[in-house]
Amino acid sequence: MKEVERLIRPDLLTLKPYSSARDDFKGKAEVFIDANENPFDNKINRYPDPLQRKLKDQISLIKSIPVDSIFLGNGSDEVLDLIIRLFCVPGTDELIITPPTYGMYKVLAAINNIFITEVPLDSNFQLVVESILKRYNRNSKILFLCSPNNPVGNVLNRKDVIKLLETFPGIVVIDEAYIDFTNEESYIKLIQTYPNLIVIQTFSKAWGMAGLRLGMAFSNAYTIGQLNKIKPPYNINVLTQEAALEKLQDTKTFKKNKKLIISERKLLVDQLSLLPIIKKIHQSDANFILAEFDNANESYAKLLEEGIVVRNRTNEIGCKNCLRITVGTPDENIRIIKTLETLS
Ligand SMILES: *Cc1c(COP(=O)(O)O)cnc(C)c1O
Repeated sequence: MKEVERLIRPDLLTLKPYSSARDDFKGKAEVFIDANENPFDNKINRYPDPLQRKLKDQISLIKSIPVDSIFLGNGSDEVLDLIIRLFCVPGTDELIITPPTYGMYKVLAAINNIFITEVPLDSNFQLVVESILKRYNRNSKILFLCSPNNPVGNVLNRKDVIKLLETFPGIVVIDEAYIDFTNEESYIKLIQTYPNLIVIQTFSKAWGMAGLRLGMAFSNAYTIGQLNKIKPPYNINVLTQEAALEKLQDTKTFKKNKKLIISERKLLVDQLSLLPIIKKIHQSDANFILAEFDNANESYAKLLEEGIVVRNRTNEIGCKNCLRITVGTPDENIRIIKTLETLS
């Protein structure tokens, strides 16, 4: 994996990771007095499996991806943070992002003292491949792409993404937090083709487990191994591992809710486009819509007065006067439609 190795923070290549007695242990033991745990069973007195093997077996089946290509984090936010730390030298390296996009990339870069280069999407919220390649320099370690993108909801053109995977000399992270809401194909199948590709997904959205904090990265086994080396040893707690394993069995509810969210998204688009205070609703392949209002700040404030919280994105690049509205339950969707009707 020379292509990836040369991008890793040099001091981390030689890092000797924390190891517990149980990392070395393969056979069948009966007495565990190695970790200073409390011996009295209360279901959570033991440290969790640091590599979450049972959970990864299940994810491997659902995603058709080998276990050694899966990394789990305390939410995708932890995964993104670890990726930045693995590749970027603080005070020297930079990330390229393509606004408008997910706000955490910038925050995580700042926390890690990593520079940010912004190459905005075009007026159709698509990538400007030439500009990205032009802005690249040898400190541009990572390019963050988000598809379907937040806050707009559209999918990035596949040919542009492939072009970048083939030509961008650094790591390309594709954040697929909303992939379950679209018919477009995931890039997960390409992790063996492109050594510089890391795909991020989450259980927070379509799977309905935002409270658990469980995010995923998929990449080649070398890169996943490097992430395992630098992660906090017990980053996924016992309760999260158990609850996720249980919820992942229930694919019926997952599919049912996902279908309902997609049909409710259409209802929201159809009904809200009729309102005079809404000028445009952007095409969405996610579980939210971005709507352009006559005056976003005013509508935002009025919705708040009615007890409805949406996300005001008016200050984001290309999103002037836009509010982002998450698809809710059918009752919640009727409520926002009715409220906006009275404001129109
Ligand atoms: C919601 C979201 C996530 C999910 O973050 P978690 O930490 O897994 O809850 C990641 N990326 C984007 C673009 C999102 O919108």
